[in-house]
Amino acid sequence: MSARVFDVAVVGGGLHGLSAALHLCRAGKRVVVLEKSWVGRHASGATAAGVRTLNRDVGELDLALESMEMWHRISALVGDDCGFHPNGQICVADRPEHLAKLEQRVSSLSAAGYQHEQIIDAQELRRLVPAINPQCLGASISRIDGAADPHRTLAAFRRSAELAGAVIRQGCGVTGIERRGQDWALALQGPAVEVDGESIVVPFIVNAAGAWAGRIAGMVGDEIPLGTKASMMIVTERLAPLVKPVVSIMGRSLSFKQSDQGTLVIGGGLQGIADLDAESSSVRMGVLSKGARAATDVFPSVRNVRMVRVWSGLEAKTADLLPVVCPAVNAPGVFHAFGYSGHGFELVPVVGATLTDLITQGRTRRPIAALDARRLMAAV
Ligand SMILES: Cc1cc2nc3c(=O)[nH]c(=O)nc-3n(C[C@H](O)[C@H](O)[C@H](O)COP(=O)(O)OP(=O)(O)OC[C@H]3O[C@@H](n4cnc5c(N)ncnc54)[C@H](O)[C@@H]3O)c2cc1C
Repeated sequence: MSARVFDVAVVGGGLHGLSAALHLCRAGKRVVVLEKSWVGRHASGATAAGVRTLNRDVGELDLALESMEMWHRISALVGDDCGFHPNGQICVADRPEHLAKLEQRVSSLSAAGYQHEQIIDAQELRRLVPAINPQCLGASISRIDGAADPHRTLAAFRRSAELAGAVIRQGCGVTGIERRGQDWALALQGPAVEVDGESIVVPFIVNAAGAWAGRIAGMVGDEIPLGTKASMMIVTERLAPLVKPVVSIMGRSLSFKQSDQGTLVIGGGLQGIADLDAESSSVRMGVLSKGARAATDVFPSVRNVRMVRVWSGLEAKTADLLPVVCPAVNAPGVFHAFGYSGHGFELVPVVGATLTDLITQGRTRRPIAALDARRLMAAV
């Protein structure tokens, strides 16, 4: 059994676990990250890495806006720009009723004091995205948004967390958690666990276990109903520069962008098949073809472009599609951060800081009331 050498065990070596570890170490905590596979194995390695406030639920909007400010100075946090380009995100409308919905949203945001979303007309849309289908009528835009490079982001958060003192143990799955006095003992299993029955004893736990976070929550007495997402992506061959902002379309599943390397990265939440026990997901080509169709409808010039790879990635989904970021309900010293429902990449910098507030000060000024697990537990 390990002595108590760490203050915090972070369960999960995805971006949220790494961000929590980084912020906690900089606040003086001794942190171990326990990852059953390897860093970035699941959602954080499969992500499209869109950095979006556009069309965010108001329940997480203030947090997302603070995170966006952090993205705009991400080098100061992790010593690398993570390939982040704030070229904007655009949601186009190709029907009058869809444009009316976008206009309604932007005016109600504006009435509530939010100015980051605006409406642009067809002419401005074509100026910003010349390759767009001329039948598109207009769009909403958030000019502060953009996209990053997921693998640079993972490498930067990992490097910074380790430089700050975090110990990352890959191949170490948490299989049980029990109360031991004022502390928690986490039982470990996996290829990198050398001592049979090894456990880690800590006063604080961060549950950043992604698609499996409901199981970790259950180990400490929080039964939180969660669904699973297996979002699919397509990447194409490299093309000459075609589009700078990330483009989606109202009423259909599409997110369309071009990477620095020239490949088109096409997603938007179409779902493959998830298997939590096998820790894998698979692509449904029939469903994915709808994403390809939406892409060619919005960008007719890409009709003959070759797809070179498709994939899917696993993460947890909540009933209201808002994440869970809060102290555990039934377990003092345990903190949840999961259920990002397909849009957690943007929140990575700020959620780690929020968890650090909760652990080091017992409270946070950041707006997380709408992200409390009790809203989901009450609905059971
Ligand atoms: C295809 C796809 C596209 C996406 N596109 C976007 C986008 O454009 N913009 C955006 O904002 N978001 C996007 N997302 C969502 C975003 O990527 C995720 O919200 C984010 O990466 C979640 O990070 P995480 O650290 O919480 O989870 P993960 O990266 O999944 O990390 C959780 C880790 O916990 C580990 N773990 C689980 N159980 C245990 C255990 N018992 N013991 C030890 N370790 C354990 C897992 O192995 C895993 O590595 C996308 C997601 C996918 C799948």
